[in-house]
Amino acid sequence: MHATLDQARRLLDTPPPPSLPGQLTVDTPPPSCDHGNPPCDATPVRLYFCGYRCDAHQPAVTRPYFQPRRSQP
Ligand SMILES: [Zn+2]
Repeated sequence: MHATLDQARRLLDTPPPPSLPGQLTVDTPPPSCDHGNPPCDATPVRLYFCGYRCDAHQPAVTRPYFQPRRSQP
């Protein structure tokens, strides 16, 4: 009885391991443009409400889809 209590106290007194499995940081690839199929994949991108878009495919240019692209000044 006392032996198991001592074992439990020793276990509680030991510090936790430095890194817990399953808690490591994940390296995600940098975001790229999601426009089109297959996606444009251009960088750099900004995050809009419709997802990551590059400058050429930002929502002000590509929405609404049924109208022709506005002419550049
Ligand atoms: Zn794009």
